[in-house]
Amino acid sequence: LVRLRQRLAGSQNVFGRGLLALLSRDRLDDDAWEDLEDTLITADVGVAATTELVERLRNRLRIEGAEGTDLRTVLREELLTLVDPTLDRTLATQGADGKPAVTLVVGVNGTGKTTTVGKLARVLVAEEKSVVLGAADTFRAAAAEQLGTWGERVGVPVVRGPEGSDPASVAFEAVRSGVEQDADVVIVDTAGRLQNKAGLMDELGKVKRVIEKQVPVSEVLLVLDATTGQNGLAQARVFSEVVNVTGVVLTKLDGSAKGGIVVAVQRELGVPVKLVGLGEGADDLAPFDAGAFVDALLE
Ligand code: GDP
Repeated sequence: LVRLRQRLAGSQNVFGRGLLALLSRDRLDDDAWEDLEDTLITADVGVAATTELVERLRNRLRIEGAEGTDLRTVLREELLTLVDPTLDRTLATQGADGKPAVTLVVGVNGTGKTTTVGKLARVLVAEEKSVVLGAADTFRAAAAEQLGTWGERVGVPVVRGPEGSDPASVAFEAVRSGVEQDADVVIVDTAGRLQNKAGLMDELGKVKRVIEKQVPVSEVLLVLDATTGQNGLAQARVFSEVVNVTGVVLTKLDGSAKGGIVVAVQRELGVPVKLVGLGEGADDLAPFDAGAFVDALLE
């Protein structure tokens, strides 16, 4: 939480900086509203959400009267509505009938999938859950090795297959092992080749089908790199057409000055950002907290 604050603290962040500039104005003239619009769009909030927010703010100030209204309070409320604290951001940590909860982690290579799987395992182990990892990213040779290292570090078993083996068979084995060991959660890392949608659909579809011969998939987490802006949104769109995404992990928020992507991606997919990556280290994964996020922007 403290880290999130540091990362997003108003003065260092495009998003926050623009909001703070608005708050420090003594007159909210057309220039001020235009600046706010520019800020929100630059921060990746997206055009539709920006227009909506500015409209709502202007209306409220008109109705409630600029005099008696605390702009910071109104702004906080409206931003919070936009980020939506009512979305269910809990992660499935228990499957049906005492079986493990299976979490599929998907996303384009390089977004931080494998790292996220490792960090997430660590979070779950700290909550005293038993975890099995599946290295179904068999396309990238280093991925299984990288996951193996995470497994050792966190103290959880990693199921791997030979290089170039069928990702679905690795996923199947990982889930079988999870069931056998009575694990709480099985997290399956997948390959994120986005060369064409049909290929991706074939591969992820098969992985999911094969897993579901044993246990239903509880969670499909889409990993997106916060620094990629509109590009990330385009990826999100493709993945959500291929699999039923239940939550987003926004990585590299530490390297992004544009937290607005949280709003844009939630609107795009209709699913919540559940976790955020705030660095490369093992402890740099945090649950996404809408209130803390908005507060950090307005600090
Ligand atoms: P994958 O190809 O999607 O599995 O991506 P990796 O997990 O290998 O991550 C790619 C790079 O991004 C690695 O150098 C990670 O250390 C780095 N990375 C992952 N998550 C974060 C994060 O939240 N913040 C930062 N700064 N780097 C991250």
